[in-house]
Amino acid sequence: MEKIIRTENLIFQYPADEDVKPEPAVKDITIEIEKGSFTAIIGRNGSGKSTIAKTFNALLLPTSGAVYVKGCDTKDADRLWDIRQTAGMVFQNPDNQLVSSIVEDDVAFGPENIGIKSEDIRGIVDEALFSVDMYDFRKKAPHMLSGGQKQRILIARALAAHPDILILDDSSSALDYRTDASLRKELGEHFKDTTTIMIAQRISSIRHADHIMVLEQGHIIGYGTHEELMESCELY
Ligand code: ADP
Ligand code: MG
Repeated sequence: MEKIIRTENLIFQYPADEDVKPEPAVKDITIEIEKGSFTAIIGRNGSGKSTIAKTFNALLLPTSGAVYVKGCDTKDADRLWDIRQTAGMVFQNPDNQLVSSIVEDDVAFGPENIGIKSEDIRGIVDEALFSVDMYDFRKKAPHMLSGGQKQRILIARALAAHPDILILDDSSSALDYRTDASLRKELGEHFKDTTTIMIAQRISSIRHADHIMVLEQGHIIGYGTHEELMESCELY
C-alpha cells in the first residue's frame, strides 16, 4: 500500500523566547499514513494535534527530522506548491474564512485557485456541496449559516479542489452527531480515494477511522483502531 505521508523522527519546536526554552510541540514522531485511509488524531488541548497536521502540508517545516508527502520532502521549496495542492487543510474556526456573498462562489474558489476550467467548475462545486449535505444552501449568504454549516462549506471548498489528502482540524466539532456521521459516509462515497486526516475532540466522530493516533504532550501514546485503543490505551 502506498504511504502518502511519512514522517521520520519529526520534531517541531515553536520559536523560543530568550530565556525560556520550551518543550517541542511535536516530539520525535515517525509514522506512515496509507493512501486512501481515514486517520484520526485525538488528544487533549495543546497535545500537538494542529502542529503535526500543519507539518503535513508544509505550513510548518520540521525543526528536525522530515515529513514526506507523496515522496516529496516538505523542506524542498520547489515542491511547496505541489504539496499544498496535494494536501488541503480546513481549519477550526470558520469565521472570516468565507468571503463571498453566496455559498457556491466560496466553494468555487477551491477549483478556481488551481486553474480548473470555468465550464467544469459548476459540476465540481455541486458535487462538493452534495457531499457535505449543503447543496440546498448554495444560493445562501455564508453569514446567515450556523457555525457547523460554515464548517461544512469550508470542507466543500477544500474538496472541490480535489486534494489527494484532506486534513480537517476539528472541522466537524460544531456538527451534531448525526451530520458528523452522514458527512463521513458521504466522504466515503464521493471521495473514497481521498486520504482523510481528521483531528477530533470527540471519540464518537472518529470511532470508524482506519487508524487513530492518540497524542499526549507531543508524543504518540496510542495508535490503532477504536477497538484496539479501547483495550490498550488508558488515556483513550
Ligand atoms: P492542539 O491542536 O492539540 O490543541 P497545538 O498543536 O495547537 O495543540 O499546540 C501544541 C503546543 O504548541 C501547545 O503547547 C501550544 O501552546 C504550542 N503552540 C501552538 N501554536 C503555537 C505558536 N504559534 N507559538 C508558540 N507555541 C505554540
Ligand atoms: Mg488544535
